[in-house]
Amino acid sequence: MVTARTARSLFSVCVASRPWSVWTSVCAGEKWWEARSRQLHGVRTIWDNRKQASAGWGSRHQSTSADWGSKKHAAKRKIKLQTAQLMMDAEMEQQLAPLRASCKEQGDLVRKLKAEGAPEMDIKKEVQELKARKKELEDMILKLSPADTFDRAKMNDLIKRRFFYDNSFAIYGGITGQYDYGPMGCDLVDNLLSEWHKHFVIQERMLKVNCSILTPEPVLKASGHVDKFADYMVKDVKTGECFRLDHLIKQHFEKVMADKKTSAEEKEALSLTLARLDGMTMEEMNDLMRKHDMKSPLTGNNLTDATEFNLMFPISIGPSGNLKGFLRPETAQGIFVNFKRLLEYNQGKLPFACAQVGNAYRNEISPRSGLLRVREFTMAEIEHFCDPDDKSHPKFAQVANTEMVLYSGCAQMDGESAKRMTIGEAVHGSGLSSLGLLSTTAEVGALDRYLKERSYILDHSPSQADLVVWEALRQPPPSDLFHASRWYRHLSSFSEKERLGLPGKKLMLEELTGGRQKGLVANETLGYYMARIQQYLLRIGINPKKLRFRQHLSNEMAHYACDCWDAECLTSYGWIECVGCADRSAYDLQQHTKGSGVKMCVERPLKEAVMVDSLAPQPDKGMIGKTFKKDAKAVQEALAALTIDQAEQMDKALTEQGEYELSGFKITRAMIPSFKREQKKVFVEEIVPSVIEPSFGVGRVFYSLLEHSFRVREDDDKRTFFSLATVVAPIKVSVLPLSNKQEFVPFTTQLADALTEMNLSVKIDDSTGSIGRRYARTDEIGIPLGITVDFDTVNKVPHTVTVRERDSTQQVRMPIEEVPLTIKNLADGKTQWKDVTDKWPIFTSQETTK
Ligand code: AMP
Repeated sequence: MVTARTARSLFSVCVASRPWSVWTSVCAGEKWWEARSRQLHGVRTIWDNRKQASAGWGSRHQSTSADWGSKKHAAKRKIKLQTAQLMMDAEMEQQLAPLRASCKEQGDLVRKLKAEGAPEMDIKKEVQELKARKKELEDMILKLSPADTFDRAKMNDLIKRRFFYDNSFAIYGGITGQYDYGPMGCDLVDNLLSEWHKHFVIQERMLKVNCSILTPEPVLKASGHVDKFADYMVKDVKTGECFRLDHLIKQHFEKVMADKKTSAEEKEALSLTLARLDGMTMEEMNDLMRKHDMKSPLTGNNLTDATEFNLMFPISIGPSGNLKGFLRPETAQGIFVNFKRLLEYNQGKLPFACAQVGNAYRNEISPRSGLLRVREFTMAEIEHFCDPDDKSHPKFAQVANTEMVLYSGCAQMDGESAKRMTIGEAVHGSGLSSLGLLSTTAEVGALDRYLKERSYILDHSPSQADLVVWEALRQPPPSDLFHASRWYRHLSSFSEKERLGLPGKKLMLEELTGGRQKGLVANETLGYYMARIQQYLLRIGINPKKLRFRQHLSNEMAHYACDCWDAECLTSYGWIECVGCADRSAYDLQQHTKGSGVKMCVERPLKEAVMVDSLAPQPDKGMIGKTFKKDAKAVQEALAALTIDQAEQMDKALTEQGEYELSGFKITRAMIPSFKREQKKVFVEEIVPSVIEPSFGVGRVFYSLLEHSFRVREDDDKRTFFSLATVVAPIKVSVLPLSNKQEFVPFTTQLADALTEMNLSVKIDDSTGSIGRRYARTDEIGIPLGITVDFDTVNKVPHTVTVRERDSTQQVRMPIEEVPLTIKNLADGKTQWKDVTDKWPIFTSQETTK
């Protein structure tokens, strides 16, 4: 077999004496780059093709999205961006102080009401006020922050011109909220998803599914989408044109506020009302619309009162029209309904995670902000199923030191800014030194020494003796916190039940660990995913200064969720939720158990067997078989799964009414003549797993990445380009012959072939434009590296080419046979451009020009 090394030396021999066209046949059997490419072969996944949902054509008013290609937005517009919320100067802080204080005052009120157990409605109202004050503070921070100029019109022009994406059905006028991805957009999305697959599915050993988009109604009834997945909508009384009420109010207020005739006080009042808009009830919004006499912005006609509009696309499945359903509004439900199969596949064990990538459909009333709010979008979702009493994560220690910018609910309530901290601190509190008993560094040091002496290991459970020794620990001097914090982490990962079961006093353990409530983030698994989400976003090129994790306030979070953090990217549209990461407790599985009658639980071994009462139906199997035929098995399973309460209910109903409905089957007394009461010894208990859900909106990540990568050359503001990270760049390298003379062709084509063989995407630009213009064209679409075949390549031996890096525009000259591996290593992130410039001379000009 020809190894990479021998292949390269063969190549060197060939290259010295023969033209390119002959080399390949000389290196008989296997081409030098084939050997290399076999070794370097990378994994690529193919992105689930975007599926098109059919829909009614938009009316003329609907035909172009609010800010896509309209003249208003094509106009030059500088948008201010807040780059680093963390770095405020003293003067700014002075201006912000009253707003911060006002948030804190309101936050304290909310806390007080919660502590006093005030009615839910009262708390909601005050949280609403808190959000309004928080928004005011954030707006002011944005206003005062150093401006970073970003020209959205310029970027949109580039996106459109080089067809990253465009309005769907544009030649017919387009439809709002629907976009087609062009060649560059498709490849970029493919690469984002391929990295996502490697980062999550492969590295975390997840399962994967691909479920149906056409979803029957009962599934979405059980999940709550049929009843609750709605926005408030008003209609033009004459034309029937629809508007999302909160958007309409916002637009109206913004227009009034922009009017020179509006007084400063009026503006102030409107801005305050705007800040309170999110979370207003339908009645409150209706009142606002009437009070300000709002009309249709398109026709000036009157508007109806608001109604709730469900955002799902209804469909009927099959020709009869009898089976009602919806296009799925998220991919998650497909995973939940397959939970039993996935658990079996995982040999009945927790924890495990399952991922799904695919399109979701939401009939947004007023899609806006380009790709940020659309009707058809790709989601990449993960459902991590774990023991509700043990949400520790075995790999948490690996990410514990990851620094993140966290904007906690508390900070939002106190009017404080987001804080940088490690995820370890966020989950487990700031360490032992700040906790109850461990209030002095001397105490921490003492524990540390004690643990060192005992060669403490993480899977060691504290014994009574440990606790006694700990109680006795009261002497200096302090030392490093390493062992102590591992001890602390270990103890705090214990469930309440485990802690109670441990020897020693509960209070003691609570003090030792600081209790779970000390951490900002609810548990290790949630924290682990937050850190992994951040790693992914940074890897693909999201600007770390424009990334934060914001915790949901209690009125934003679904009632069943324990904790929820959004990865938000700062764009010219403000902070945008790109990834949601929530601990959804057992809600989804419980709902589908109720909806389908199929138990979604896991058997957890008990430490000691226990005796339990049971009431088992004694079915007449023959009769059940005859009556239900192919469904008999399902009926038997449902009978076997009855809890004691359900069995009692069934027995009662069969006695009193003679029949009982079980999972949609009518059961009669004759089928279950009796029930047997007995005591059973059980070795396992059934638990419903909790679900931690990271949910990525791929379009939003894609758009944020484009904004974060958009650049304008300092010396020429017409030269715009995307500084895409090499791992995600759609095309990794360009090959540009300086002349279209015949002698250049073999060098160009065979170099391009060698790169392609290594799975690198290549663009050959042999057009006649100047090399500068051709570089500019390749820069525009984010190609990170460019190879130029020039006269020296053709005329001089050994044959060399130049390699150029897009961002610095620096060029080096290197032997042609070194190029494919150099490019491959750069594309895979194994080497950096600096390594290349250290090794090869910087290119200034060619020696031959003919
Ligand atoms: P949700 O299930 O509403 O939490 O949404 C999950 C993720 O999907 C969000 O974090 C967004 O990134 C994305 N997303 C939700 N709605 C839309 C939309 N209409 N258009 C584009 N992306 C969306």
